[in-house]
Amino acid sequence: MYIKPSIAQLAPYVPGDQPPKSKSLIKLNANENAYPPSLVVEELLRTFDYANLRYYPDATSQSLRRAIADRHSCPQEHVFCGNGSDEIIAYLFQVCFEEQDSIATPYPTYTLYKTIADIHRIHTEYVPAQEDYSIDVEALVKTNAKGIFIANPNAQTGLLLGMDAIEKLLQAYQGLVVIDEAYIDFAPAHASAASLVDHYPNLVVLRTFSKSYSLCGIRVGYCLADRSLVMALDKCRDSYNVSTLSQAMAEAALKDQAYLLSTVQRVIATRERVSQALQLMGFSVLPSAANFLLCTPPHDQAKGMYEYLITHQVYVRYFNSPRLSDKLRISIGTDEEMDVLLSLLSKYIY
Ligand code: PMP
Repeated sequence: MYIKPSIAQLAPYVPGDQPPKSKSLIKLNANENAYPPSLVVEELLRTFDYANLRYYPDATSQSLRRAIADRHSCPQEHVFCGNGSDEIIAYLFQVCFEEQDSIATPYPTYTLYKTIADIHRIHTEYVPAQEDYSIDVEALVKTNAKGIFIANPNAQTGLLLGMDAIEKLLQAYQGLVVIDEAYIDFAPAHASAASLVDHYPNLVVLRTFSKSYSLCGIRVGYCLADRSLVMALDKCRDSYNVSTLSQAMAEAALKDQAYLLSTVQRVIATRERVSQALQLMGFSVLPSAANFLLCTPPHDQAKGMYEYLITHQVYVRYFNSPRLSDKLRISIGTDEEMDVLLSLLSKYIY
């Protein structure tokens, strides 16, 4: 079988450990939500007319786009829905870049940007984060890349880039700016760049139902962007890229903002409590605006801790790359789960 050499040479994307599904296992390695989806989603599934599944889905997810537009008080023409925000990232590379173009993105960040850039033979210029892991916006602009990808809050670190910095970037840079807000609902209010889409046609804001809406499993993400870009994305997408059930479940979840707020508040409260507890044990912990914590255990013990936790059925993410040496990334679980984690870590240390 012929495989294009440019694809054959690629390393596959590694999402991290995929532990066996088991009720006794505590899974804190993929930044999934600690809580189940809204009961409104359960109710929808109970009453769903399954005979409808013989029809293809609405190709353009009209009803969901309308609900998202209402939620953001923006024109429906600014909304595009995808099979997870990952799919939209892939479409952006198809639509906005030619082979040999380059994108710039901070390092560390969500590694999928580079994975997809590699598939399309687009160069990724990593701009190292500053000493404190904050994003070097000036250096990103200076790269002269054709597009800039920023996860905000940033993946791996959880750090938030302020709106001032984002506006400065947009004023200084004419290329495509993608602000990936997968974790924004866990950040303080008014941190989203969504309202700037009306003012900057080169801005794309990515969102997902995976994290704050607890719906990783249905694979729905969306972006807000200028209508010309949305039209271009529509030309490139798979004919029926979001399933009927996924469209309906996402729309149902969107309606239950009270549930979203209550679970997000719980995750934030747990995050702050766990951060303090880890610091008391001697960890250094980055201030997180997301549903995970990036931390460095005392005395280079990350790998040993990671392995010890697995033997007790607790999975976190271990990093040991140049800027992320000897680090653990811990997703925020329920309070009970985090108590188990903290007690194991304290046994390991003392
Ligand atoms: N962006 C970032 C920064 C992420 O961490 C993730 C999830 N790993 C995604 C996007 C992908 O989200 P989705 O489930 O919508 O594809």
